[in-house]
Amino acid sequence: MSLDNLSHTFSLKQGDTIFEHLPVGVALFDARDFRLLEANALYHKFLDQYLPLSWKHGQAIGHPPMEWLPEPGSTVTAAIFRKVLETGTSYRSGQFTFLGSDYGSTYWHWMLDPLRDDNGHIVQLLLTVTDVTEQVLARQQAEQAHSSVSEANRIIETERKRLEVIETVARTVRETLDLESIGKMTIEAIYDNLNSRTLYIHVANPEKQALQLLNFYTTIDVKQTLSFMQDVPYSSPFLIAKALKQRNPIIIEDMQIAASTDRILSNNPLVALGVQGYICVPLWFKDHFEGALTASFQKAIQRDGLEVQTLVGCSTHIAAALAHARLHTTVENERSRLRTVLDQLPEGILIIEAANGAVSYANCVAIDILGVSLPNIIGFPLHRYPQPYEATDPNSPQGTALKFTIIRALCGETINSQEITVFRPDGSKAILLFSAAPLHIENGVVTGVVLVFQDITAQKSIEQQKNEFLSIASHELRTPITTIQGMAEILQMQVERGQSLSSPRSMRAVNGIVEQSQHLARLIEEMLDISRLENAQLLLHPAPHNLLATLSQVIEDHTITTHKHQLHLVLQGLSTGDSLIVSYDEERMVQILNNLISNAIKYSPSGGDIEVGLRYAAELPGEVLLWVKDSGIGIPEHELASIFKRFHRANNLDRSISGLGIGLYLVHELVTRHGGRAWVESMEGKGSTFYILLPVNTG
Ligand code: ADP
Repeated sequence: MSLDNLSHTFSLKQGDTIFEHLPVGVALFDARDFRLLEANALYHKFLDQYLPLSWKHGQAIGHPPMEWLPEPGSTVTAAIFRKVLETGTSYRSGQFTFLGSDYGSTYWHWMLDPLRDDNGHIVQLLLTVTDVTEQVLARQQAEQAHSSVSEANRIIETERKRLEVIETVARTVRETLDLESIGKMTIEAIYDNLNSRTLYIHVANPEKQALQLLNFYTTIDVKQTLSFMQDVPYSSPFLIAKALKQRNPIIIEDMQIAASTDRILSNNPLVALGVQGYICVPLWFKDHFEGALTASFQKAIQRDGLEVQTLVGCSTHIAAALAHARLHTTVENERSRLRTVLDQLPEGILIIEAANGAVSYANCVAIDILGVSLPNIIGFPLHRYPQPYEATDPNSPQGTALKFTIIRALCGETINSQEITVFRPDGSKAILLFSAAPLHIENGVVTGVVLVFQDITAQKSIEQQKNEFLSIASHELRTPITTIQGMAEILQMQVERGQSLSSPRSMRAVNGIVEQSQHLARLIEEMLDISRLENAQLLLHPAPHNLLATLSQVIEDHTITTHKHQLHLVLQGLSTGDSLIVSYDEERMVQILNNLISNAIKYSPSGGDIEVGLRYAAELPGEVLLWVKDSGIGIPEHELASIFKRFHRANNLDRSISGLGIGLYLVHELVTRHGGRAWVESMEGKGSTFYILLPVNTG
């Protein structure tokens, strides 16, 4: 641009290329009437943006802005022109916006400078207009971009914080099944991050029909509110009680505002404490109401704000943890109740966990039957338990039977009365009668198996012995019957032939019949005694007798019939001919002595001495000891404990020695019923001594 000083005024050289190409609009105004004298193309472009059509395209030249500028621009411009004229100082507009119809919004700076003549009088005003639209738009875009980034950062930061809290809550509550710990961990994980004023976690108690305070955190003095919050009945008017009836959180963005129209809310102590934001999240796990998580904030909150989203996000994890803790407690309570009952049962009980197949409970009877110690069975899978089951081949039918029983029960089946043989750690064998049933929880999931069993080894062996007895008994009975039959046939033949029945042969036959009949009668009598004993029908008829006389008589009877054995009577504290009066059933006492002496004879097949003893010591006047001692085959040590059991016969016997295994049982029972005691000392191959201690009623 170049300015020409002409007769004290300035002129813009028309058509000057530089002037026309200036990036600023330039215009000269007359200082007297503000007429537009000259302007370059850019200024005209600027003017054309907002001038009415009649003033566009240079029509404004020669006219003051007050004529061509629309209001309010016109008045404002006139005032500025006048001010520059009066003060002689330049005017700087700062940025202003034109809302032009052709180009949209454009942004400009304009300046008005006074031009003076040589005398210093202001003769003209120079207006320069700079188009800053591009810079402004660029700046606006930069600002917009900056604020979008900040907003994005803020959103990310909020989201990060929300996820962090939820993650912490989820992780910590997962670690425990204890209600108290869940409450404590939840509160600790949340309060620090959310800046809440109060934070409560309540757990539902359907029995009490109330929400019970599990844990809380507060920055305000809530002594007075705490008592209300401790136990909130479902029927209470408090907001938290509404949690039970709905699934969505109760959100109050600003309690202060809400309280102005809600009378119940206006009584809420939190309102008086200046609290604004409030949220109560019902804790639901599936269809079960577990409790509520409640928080209040000093500032107002938003429905979709960080506080609401965080607490809602945490709520599912807390509800799940509370549900698991509740189920765990229920299962535990059920189990401990069950255990108390099971501990009292006469059957062996084992509980096996479905999760790991390990034994989690065994009652005393089970321990006893299996012959194991508690620490050696709890925590071990039963089918892999090192003792007693590994002692046997794990693939043996017994091991498999037990395994299958457990597996079938784990599949939901109930198994009744299955006989399974197990081996104890000490190597002994037991026959057990097992029943198994699955243990369910609410939703039908099998959590374990309960095994109920009893040791039927004894019954089994009695059953077996009974069977053996029946076969032996039929043999024992048949033998005398066959003899009697044979003898009778001889006599019959003799009669048919008209032969004399007083011949020695006939006499032998008659004696044989009598002897075998007596033997048969004795056998039958013993068998009857067994059933009499079992049915409590065996009655004793005790009366005072001379025991020495009874004993001597029995010995004498046996001496007549045995030839290979020598019977000796040994007396201690007594002399032959003494009388020792003891009260007993004589017939039964004879039976006792007969049994012992005939056994001593029977089980000393090579013959030998048999000592029958009787001791009465004056210093022990209340008892008398009897014994029968032989030097026969003896009894193996491991048989001694069972030798008095019915049907029991030792395994060192030559089975050609006849017997039913009931004699010693009867001895034992009869002696016991006389108030005495019977026992044996024996060494296999060396002989046995049977003792009987009887009470003597001196009175
Ligand atoms: P039984 O003699 O008919 O078999 P018992 O009840 O009298 O029945 O005896 C039971 C078992 O005790 C016998 O089978 C035998 O094995 C053992 N026993 C009894 N007495 C003697 C003895 N004196 N010596 C060795 N073993 C004996």
